[in-house]
Amino acid sequence: MGMDKLGFHCHSMRHFKGAILDTGLKRGEFYNFPAQEIPLLKKEISRHNISVSIHAPLVRPDWYYDPPTFTYLCDADRGKRELSLRMIELALNQASDFNTDYVVVHYPHPLDDLDGVEYADLRKIALDSAYQLSKLGDKYKQEIHIEGYGPNPLLSVDFLKEVFSEFPKLKYCFDTGHLNIDSKEREFDLYGFAEGLAQHVGSIHLWNVSSVLDFESYRHIPVHPSQKPEDGWVDVPRILKTLWGHVKSVIFENIPQYPQELGGHDYKEGVQWVKQLATTLS
Ligand SMILES: [Zn+2]
Repeated sequence: MGMDKLGFHCHSMRHFKGAILDTGLKRGEFYNFPAQEIPLLKKEISRHNISVSIHAPLVRPDWYYDPPTFTYLCDADRGKRELSLRMIELALNQASDFNTDYVVVHYPHPLDDLDGVEYADLRKIALDSAYQLSKLGDKYKQEIHIEGYGPNPLLSVDFLKEVFSEFPKLKYCFDTGHLNIDSKEREFDLYGFAEGLAQHVGSIHLWNVSSVLDFESYRHIPVHPSQKPEDGWVDVPRILKTLWGHVKSVIFENIPQYPQELGGHDYKEGVQWVKQLATTLS
């Protein structure tokens, strides 16, 4: 029970086995695949009966920013917003080829340049983008989860609650690692943020990081039971306890490998740990 919520992020067939088959998980979140791997991906998904979510873009468009996680839905530049919406629409369209549970997009996102843009204007822009997303979700019959992080004044419980009240079909994707860094840099309480948004959270990106420096060196570190909150790591059981009842899924968002310099743990121990936690939460 509840185990079907657990899944692994995957952005190439090279990681499919380590992320999904070797962990015994039955769910994957697929992102930024080379176009030529899509037929094999489809085959493997149906062969192993994997539940699917998609992190836009599914297929890497050659006309978009690199990395394609750059999404400008809350940017004052209209051209950038339109390009992002085009990238997202393509992912939504491709999602209908799979039995997709939901599609993740980034919003709000670190801003390139805040110079001269008033908060009131940013708000309007972001609300309009949420409206566009909500319309696209209806058009393609997909649930959209928005993942927000980074130094953006719109990343607040109050603003996001406003978005979700106005566009109730949109959900929030709570990214544990990014929000842990944000909470340190901008001094807000990570657990208060989780509690404040809990009723709107539709999915979790699960990975860990203890400091900005670690993120710069190792990016998305797999969760592991040895990571102590008093050393700066996310308190994974606490976050799961707060959000578990609200979410469709919890996606391990790291490559299947633990940095040697941080102990070289087996990332599968982290998956085992979360599976065990899940049995107490379901
Ligand atoms: Zn994420």
